[in-house]
Amino acid sequence: MLSSSVWAWSDHASLLWPLVRTQPELLEPTLHAETLEDFVNAEASGLALVLSRHEALARETMAHYAPRPDSLAFTADAADLRDAFLRAIRVNPELDFALYRQTTVDDPAVPADLVQRFDDLSFLDGGVSHNSIVYIALQSGELVAPAHVLASGSDEPDFGLDIGLFEDNGTDFGDRYGFGTQPFGNPNLEYSSQAPFHMGFYHLDWMTRKAQPDLLRTYPEWRVSLFRELSRFAFETGHDYWGWRFAGWGLHYIGDLSQPYHAHPLPGVSTLGGLWTVVRGKTGEAIQLVSNRHGVLESYQYQRVQKALDEKSWSSVILTAIANGTPIPEFDESTVRSELTKESVAAGSDLDESLEEHMPSRYVSDPTFEWNGSGEEAAIVVTVASDRGDQAIDALDTVVAEQMQRFSRFAQAWINDARRAWSAAN
Ligand SMILES: [Zn+2]
Repeated sequence: MLSSSVWAWSDHASLLWPLVRTQPELLEPTLHAETLEDFVNAEASGLALVLSRHEALARETMAHYAPRPDSLAFTADAADLRDAFLRAIRVNPELDFALYRQTTVDDPAVPADLVQRFDDLSFLDGGVSHNSIVYIALQSGELVAPAHVLASGSDEPDFGLDIGLFEDNGTDFGDRYGFGTQPFGNPNLEYSSQAPFHMGFYHLDWMTRKAQPDLLRTYPEWRVSLFRELSRFAFETGHDYWGWRFAGWGLHYIGDLSQPYHAHPLPGVSTLGGLWTVVRGKTGEAIQLVSNRHGVLESYQYQRVQKALDEKSWSSVILTAIANGTPIPEFDESTVRSELTKESVAAGSDLDESLEEHMPSRYVSDPTFEWNGSGEEAAIVVTVASDRGDQAIDALDTVVAEQMQRFSRFAQAWINDARRAWSAAN
């Protein structure tokens, strides 16, 4: 179940850009890029304290949290501080966490010797969306704007940060991280092991909780809270570059959770509807349809956002929704669970219905069809137009814009929170 689609929105950095490009205080290149090693070495004792406090908070307040084994606690006398830090926050320690930023449609052409590709930054196979992105390598000390660090950082959790963390993923660190076996998804598929960190099922009905208790083992709320704490600590200790980069990391999960298919395993299926499906032996079909709708939504959204960005159609319905989400909530520790995912779950049923109504029916209503790997992703907009007409495109753009509004509101709440911590420290 839920093994196939684990990306949520592709290319989070481009997704965020319409929102941050109009916020002048984030566009000044005022941050000095700093390697992770330099940051951790400089602040080791403070980090030890902050991480142990946060671990205590997580154990006390987060339902179904998997405690960090005490042997992984970060101490300032570790031989390799950078590696000890990465293991203490339980991310994949094999990534370089290099200094770089993603370019945007507002950037001039990048000199060839500075161009970096997804391959240079991640061990994953990026797929179409990531392999086309141009990144720029940064030097330690080089000046860079908060908007770029935040946007780039917000895509970084899809570089492999959360890959291989379970004990059945065949990694030495997964063996020790204390997350147990992978709660859902196929542990043999490279991408699927990040799903329990990028999906948050905090509002399951009683039947699902009873029948599928493993679905309760999801961790994005913890990731958001941890990276918020690290971001604040970095600002307080004068490492503004890492303040914004950690803020970017946390923002990734907020973006993922704004997507209804990442906040509920079966959006639009009620408890009774679900029971009826089980009784009729149609569970496999229902899961296939949801998986297809999930994938179809993400492909369509990606194509529409990308096209609007390429054309700089800032007044298109989708980019306008990203740039102007209102009302903007106040962000605090309860926001992910009690507001964001609640709203995403509530939106799931209408979203699911709209896809059923406006997408080509073999994509969304044929349980014998498998969307992932169908090769139809790139041409999805053309197919929708020829099968269902231009009014289907308008209707689907409106539906995507509604999801983008939610993303924008909570992303801005998060940015406001980070900006407050930044100015309080400066
Ligand atoms: Zn994600």
